[in-house]
Order: sequence, then C-alpha cells, then structure tokens
Amino acid sequence: NQQILLDNRPQGEASVSNFKLVSTPVPAADALADGQVLVRHHYLSLDPYMRGRMNDSKSYAEPQPLGQVMIGGTVGEVVASKHARFAVGDHVVGLGGWQEYSVVDATQRGALSKVDTSRVPMSAYLGSVGMPGVTAFYGLIKIIQPKAGETVVVSAASGAVGSVVGQLAKARGCRVVGVAGGADKCAYVVNELGFDACIDYKAHADARSFYKALKEATPNGIDGYFENVGGMILDSVLLRMNAFGRVAICGMIAGYNGEPTPLQNPALILVNRLKVEGFIVSEHPEVWPEAMQELGGMVATGRMKFRESVAQGIASAPEAFLGLLKGRNFGKQLVKLV
Ligand code: NDP
Repeated sequence: NQQILLDNRPQGEASVSNFKLVSTPVPAADALADGQVLVRHHYLSLDPYMRGRMNDSKSYAEPQPLGQVMIGGTVGEVVASKHARFAVGDHVVGLGGWQEYSVVDATQRGALSKVDTSRVPMSAYLGSVGMPGVTAFYGLIKIIQPKAGETVVVSAASGAVGSVVGQLAKARGCRVVGVAGGADKCAYVVNELGFDACIDYKAHADARSFYKALKEATPNGIDGYFENVGGMILDSVLLRMNAFGRVAICGMIAGYNGEPTPLQNPALILVNRLKVEGFIVSEHPEVWPEAMQELGGMVATGRMKFRESVAQGIASAPEAFLGLLKGRNFGKQLVKLV
C-alpha cells in the first residue's frame, strides 16, 4: 500500500520535498474489526484546500499532522467488509487519503457512501457530482440566488468548481461570463461548457486591460460573482457589480502559497450595497441531497459537461498537486490508482 505522507511544512511555496512516499503492507482482510471496510482506491482527488492543511496556522480546519497520510477524497471499490451495508464490489466515496487502500470505520456517519456508477462515471463523484459540484451549487444557488436574465461571473471557470457554477447558472437563464488562464481554457469554457464569454486573465495581465475586457463582456453589469481566485480579478469585478449584487467567496487560490491578495476598494461593497458571503461546503451537509440530485441528473443526461486532468499512480500526486496550485490542471485534478 503505497502512501504519501506530509513530511514537513512549506515555508512559502509548497514543494515536492514537503511530501514523502512510503510503502506499507496492504491491510489484511481477515484483520478487519466489526464495522470496518477495506477499500481499494481507484481515484484520489486533489483539491486546493489541501494547501491550507499543510500549514500549521489557525484556519477553519485542523492542520494535517506531520508523518501521516495526506488527507484527501477517494473513490474506489470495497474489497473486504465487516459492515452489513457494504458488500465486496460496491463503489464507494470516502476520505481515504493519498494512498492505494484504506480501512474505513463505516459505522461513523458519512465516513463512506455508496455511489451508483451505472449512469455517472466513478471519477465524477470526486468532481461535478461530488464535493466540488456541491460547492458550486451552494455558492451559486444558496448565496448568489441567480435569476433569469441576470449576469453571473465566475473565476477559475474551467476548473472543477467553476465549470459547474457556469453550467448551473446557464440552466437558470443567466448570462454567464468566466475568467480563466489561457486561450485554450477560455475556448473550452465558451465552446464546450456553453458560457456566453470568457476572459483570459493572463492575456489581460494589467488591471486596466482586464477591466476593459470585463466591461465588454458584461454590458449590463454583474449581479452575481462566484469568487475562486481573489486579487486583481476581484477588484475589477467589484467595479462592475450592480446595486444589490451578491458575491459568494468560495476560494482565494491566488494567495494560497502566501502571496498577498489585498482588496483595493472595499468601499464598493457599501456603494453597491453588496451581499458578500464566504462559505465552507462541509458546513452545509443539508444541501447535499438537493445538489446531488440535480448534478447527478445533469451529468447522467449529458447536460453537465466536465473535463479531468488525470495523473497516473500515487507517486505522481505531489507534482500534480503543485501543478493544481499553478493552474497546470485543465478541469478536475485526479490521480488514477487502478
Ligand atoms: P480548479 O479545478 O479550479 O483548479 C484550480 C484553478 O485555479 C487552476 O486551474 C487555475 O485556473 C486557478 N488558479 C491557480 N492559481 C491561480 C492564480 N494565482 N490566479 C488565478 N487563478 C489561479 O480547483 P477547484 O475547482 O477544486 O477549486 C476552485 C476554488 O474553489 C479554489 O479556490 C478552492 O479553494 C475553492 N473551494 C472552496 C470550497 C469551499 O468550501 N469554500 C470547496 C472546494 C473548493 P486558471 O488556469 O484558469 O488560472
């Protein structure tokens, strides 16, 4: 059972030397205690929140302990079970971590969930029909509450969360504008995901040029903004917000490696009477059934598209994770283990 441990904490930018690959025996099926399930992971999810866990600073989540398997969402199959609700061969989602197998105490509520892979591919349960999809659903539907005809903007638009935000907003009759890094990502967002426009922030690196492009793409101003990035993009969007607009603060990835992301003009929140709300998806379990029903239905019927960047083998996880923090992923970043 190959595993990736957090070996030491990053000073500034994270690097591969923060991680350590170790090999341990695969847990024995006959050593399971009552209620335990042995899962073989098919995919590991890599997510930006993991960068925060690598630090020892105060946050909404406990830091990842040193010398232990990195935390992470996984999807896989049951290979041995001493729990009545889980049978060998079941496909399950859990928090198995950066390793090939995990032993899960399935008596703990929410530790392991069975998933139906007959209409939705297994990997999607870590993306559009998993935590990132529910994140998009919560921020858009519960905070922004978009109405038909309104303009919604989302940053990191080609990614796991952003791609779902835009497609849900389109399904509700909004004008949807994405922000993404590079011409390829922007072309995908418009041509494949069906957004109305997408601004390449790398081609508009200075604030004035970015603002001009944003203004052209949002002729009626902006009613809802789903923030994944922070920094210059947020400043420009605030200048385009309509009165009584809503801003869901989901992530600030531009600052996760310690870069400063100051807000230039907070007075715009007052001037435009904005509702600005941060949220953490794990604190809203009540939204899961509703969100999963819509997202699962849309993916199963092809109305929700998604794209994945798949790294091969557990040893590739650190490099793939660092790439995610630099936008080298194109769509949901996964590690394939089987
Ligand atoms: P993505 O699939 O969107 O991948 C991350 C993307 O962020 C990259 O592809 C890159 O896209 C963009 N990015 C990285 N660095 C920068 C930068 N310096 N400036 C601008 N963009 C950058 O990841 P997720 O969909 O998983 O996550 C998106 C956001 O949602 C993150 O901020 C994450 O922390 C947040 N999140 C929050 C949750 C919550 O509960 N609040 C839950 C889940 C996610 P590009 O090349 O286009 O720049």
